[in-house]
Parts: sequence; C-alpha cells; structure tokens
Amino acid sequence: MGMISKLKKISLGNWMLMGMFLGLIVGLILNEFVSDQFIKDVILLNNVFYLGGTGFIKLMKMLVVPLVFFSIIVGVASISDIKKIGTIGGRTIIIYLITTALAVTVALLISGIIKPGAGLNMVGVAQANVTTNASASNTVLNMIPDNPFNSLANGDMLPVIIFGVLIGIILAKLREKTKLVNDFFTQGNSIMMEMTHIVMKFAPIGIFCLMAKTFASLGLDTLLPLTKYVGCVLLGLAIQAFVVYPALLVILTRLNPIRFFKKFFPVMFFAFSSSTSNATIPLNLEKLSELGVSRDVSSFTIPLGATINMDGTAIMQGCAVMFAAQAYGMDLGLSALLTVIFTAVTASIGTAGVPSVGLITLNMVFTSVGLPVDAIGMIMGIDHILDMFRTAVNVTGDAICTMIVSFKNNSLDLDVFKGKKESGEKWVDII
Ligand code: ASP
Repeated sequence: MGMISKLKKISLGNWMLMGMFLGLIVGLILNEFVSDQFIKDVILLNNVFYLGGTGFIKLMKMLVVPLVFFSIIVGVASISDIKKIGTIGGRTIIIYLITTALAVTVALLISGIIKPGAGLNMVGVAQANVTTNASASNTVLNMIPDNPFNSLANGDMLPVIIFGVLIGIILAKLREKTKLVNDFFTQGNSIMMEMTHIVMKFAPIGIFCLMAKTFASLGLDTLLPLTKYVGCVLLGLAIQAFVVYPALLVILTRLNPIRFFKKFFPVMFFAFSSSTSNATIPLNLEKLSELGVSRDVSSFTIPLGATINMDGTAIMQGCAVMFAAQAYGMDLGLSALLTVIFTAVTASIGTAGVPSVGLITLNMVFTSVGLPVDAIGMIMGIDHILDMFRTAVNVTGDAICTMIVSFKNNSLDLDVFKGKKESGEKWVDII
C-alpha cells in the first residue's frame, strides 16, 4: 500500500520521462543483443510496441481537430474585443516569423563554420541559378477554406483556425442571440478538455513504446557516417532551445526560463518521441495553462504555431543546404543564402507538423537555390532521429512565443507561473 501511494505521488511528467528513458534503453538492448527475429520483430516491434505507440499517437490525433476548433471559438468569443484579437494575432505571427528566420540564420552560420559537407566531393548537376519556387500568395490563399467541413475532416489546421476565429468573433458580437450555440461550443470544449486529461494518462506507456520501437530498429550507429552534419543540426537546435528562447523570454518578459522548462519538459519529450507537433497540441495547451497562460491566447497561438512555426525544422534545412552545397562544391552567395532563409520560412508556413514533413519541404528549399535534390537522399537515412529532436524544438518555439504574447497581453497569471497558485485547470466550467 505504502509503495502504491508513493507511486501515485510521481507526477505525470516524471512518468513520461521514465517512459522515455526506459524505452530508449529497452530499444537499444533489443537492437544490440536480441537476434531472435520472432520475439524482436514479430512480437515486440510489430505488435506490442506498434500497438502501444501508434495507438497513443492516434488517441492524441483524435483530440486535435475538435479540441482546436472548440477552444479557438470559445477563446475568441471570450475576448470579444476584435482589436485585441488582431493584436494577439499580429504579435504572434511576427514573433513566429522572426524566430524561424533567426533559426535558419543560426544554422547557416554554424554549418558555415563547421563545414559538415566539406571533403565529400560529390559531383552533381548543380545549377547555380537562384529561382524562388515558394509561392507566398498560394500559402495565403490556402488558409481560406473552400469548404470548412472538408478542412475539419482533413484536419487542415490553418483553414480550421480561420473559420473558428470567424465564428468566435461573430458569437462575441451577437451575444444573447446566439447564447445556445455559444453554450454548445463552451460545453463541447469542456468535454474535449476532459478527454485530453484522460488520454494523457496513457502518455508514459505510449512514449515508452514509441522510443523502444524507434531505437530497436535504428540503433545509434546509424548516426555515425554523418556525424558532422548531425552535430551541426543538434548544435543549432540546442542553441535555439537553450540560448535563443531563454534570452527572448528574459528580454521580453523577465520571466525565469528555468521555471518554464521545469514545467514544460514533458511536452518536449512527447514531441521528441512522437515526431509530430500536431499531435502535441493538446499536451502543449495543458502545460501552458499550468504555467499560467490564459487559454484565450494559447488556444489560438499553439495550433497556429504547430502549423506555421517550425524553428527546429528550419535549422535542419539550413544545415542541410550548407551540407549539400559544400559536398557538391557549390559556393552560395549572399542572395542565395537570403533565398534559403525566405524559402525555409515560407516552407514552414502551411505545412502541418507531422513526422518527416521537413524533409519533403526541403525539396523546395534545395530547388530555390539550384541545389541537386539527390543530395537529400544522403541525409534521409538519419532524418528520423533528427526529426525527433527538431520537433521538440518546434513545440518549444510555439510555447515560448505564446508565453511572450500572453505576457504582453496581460493574460499570463504570474502567481500560477511562480507556483504560488494552482492553475484553474478547467478554464471554462461546464454550465
Ligand atoms: N516532425 C516535425 C513536426 O511535426 C516537422 C518536420 O520537421 O518534419 O514539427
């Protein structure tokens, strides 16, 4: 009994941490020492771990569309002041764009110094002309839903956000006339929040299975042939997460970054194990309310960030461009580097945060400066592990920006942040 009550005291975040390390260890042991294909592949990898890991990601994905849709509507309707919504939206988008541009720049600088691709002497048909394929106007047009129900069904985040914001604004305007609908969305939102709490209880098992499966099939030696490239990406990610973000938080809000990371780490671990920022949305929202952020802000900024703000991905892309250019002996001038920054930022807007999407948009970045896309093949094999790390940075970027916007907007509860008060977990009580 004593043991059980001790176990019950361990927080969910710590359970997730344990699940992650245990999964890593079990995965590596399986990879190194277990050669029995039946036990390893048939029983564990393709059934037990697959079921536990993919099952958990599916549960999280199940939450995303209804949770985002309901909470955006309720969040925006409760702000009611349209000007305020504009300010939050404007600030968020600006910070997202600036942090992504900063991230690519850091990556270009690091790999300019470390030179991960030097000496590989690849020969390719590199065309040195600079062409920009990223179409900013199409990215904007794609945000407007042709049919909002299609967008909901497909889980297209940006059109869902736009449609939700519009409904929220109108509800705030019509008030009493639309009370019934307002109550419907408010209660729907409470239901989805409760469902999130329940699903989250399975997170440690899900994370354990995801980690064990990944490392049992990959092993760490896959990283060896490209250590310099991997090193560049990881260094860039570490700088962004542990230097750039804390600096932004301190300069713009004077909040203690250590306090932030202590509470936030489970979100990073979940993003790391699952490689998808989209499926991390529910957990991110939950942890940010424990940090004192008002859901009015986070319900809008987090889903938006999961789609348009991918700093970690941009870092990988910056390093990959330099790596390929060095391997093919191409000299990228200033205008090509600026094109890379522009294309990487545009590419991160409008692509959903799902596993490996960064590798797909990398095509666009490569073609924009005339690099041979074959070079992507060289880094494909190790991308899965880098995807895990960069997804953790992607979700941290969304949360840091949300902290800043929420602080500037006076909707951050400092007492909750400092741990003096519990967050009102259920932000809207069921009426
Ligand atoms: N997996 C990343 C995410 O979901 C995107 C990527 O870089 O592939 O944020």
